[in-house]
Amino acid sequence: MLKVSDLTVSFSGNPVVSGICFSLMPGEILGFVGESGSGKSVTSLALMGLLPPNAKVEGGSASFSTEKGQVDLLKVDSKTHRQIRGQGIAMIFQEPQTSLNPSMICGKQISEAVELHTNLRGAKAKERCIQLLAEMQLTDPAKVYSSYPHQLSGGQKQRVMIAMALAGNPRILIADEPTTALDVTVQKSILQLLKDIRQRHQIGIIFITHDLSVVAEVADRIMVMQQGQIVEQGTVTEIFNNPTHPYTRRLIEFRK
Ligand code: ATP
Ligand code: MG
Repeated sequence: MLKVSDLTVSFSGNPVVSGICFSLMPGEILGFVGESGSGKSVTSLALMGLLPPNAKVEGGSASFSTEKGQVDLLKVDSKTHRQIRGQGIAMIFQEPQTSLNPSMICGKQISEAVELHTNLRGAKAKERCIQLLAEMQLTDPAKVYSSYPHQLSGGQKQRVMIAMALAGNPRILIADEPTTALDVTVQKSILQLLKDIRQRHQIGIIFITHDLSVVAEVADRIMVMQQGQIVEQGTVTEIFNNPTHPYTRRLIEFRK
């Protein structure tokens, strides 16, 4: 469904990620681990067409299958990228409040995303929005619908963000440290929610984290990054039972 080959990105001429190769199948959860600054977010932003202006994709390809055929995410124009964001690949971040409008009720924000990415309008978009919120296993979806972001807990906000990300029925969800800011119980319930979503919708999920324990709980495969490169990838069992790179060994050792 997604095949990334040899992705290289530079900032102001300095390469920050290089030679990135990986693939993602429908319904698969791929865990991205790596120390701070190793290039996890830059890799994701390149796929989303959301790199800052001083960044440049120097090379590589990211072949993604859409209803209209294969596209290379690194080469499409900004209009196509806008369409793909939401309908094809959606992304959620560590701090949901940075992506939510503080002065608009959450339901309206999700409905707007539904209207942007689907043919549903007005009451139909609202209906879909309530349905999405219910799917987020919120105790009171109607109350969350009419709440402003500041009235919700961190976990509830993250669920609103996931609902919004799913508004256009994307095939891939990139979750960039979505549970780092949450306490352990809430963290676990969000991980369970993501697993349920992939099961129900066969969405491929790229799950970015520093935390190897989180990856062990949620991922099918793991990709380990260090200093802008992939140093190791494999199934969770392979990586935990037989890590080949010293950095991966250190990460596993550190976790014990
Ligand atoms: P973290 O775990 O802290 O989120 P990360 O693995 O997501 O780290 P990235 O944000 O992808 O790391 O950063 C990779 C590299 O790109 C870093 O060395 C960083 O300094 C550089 N970088 C990221 N954003 C910019 C920017 N806007 N301008 C210049 N360099 C940047
Ligand atoms: Mg990051």
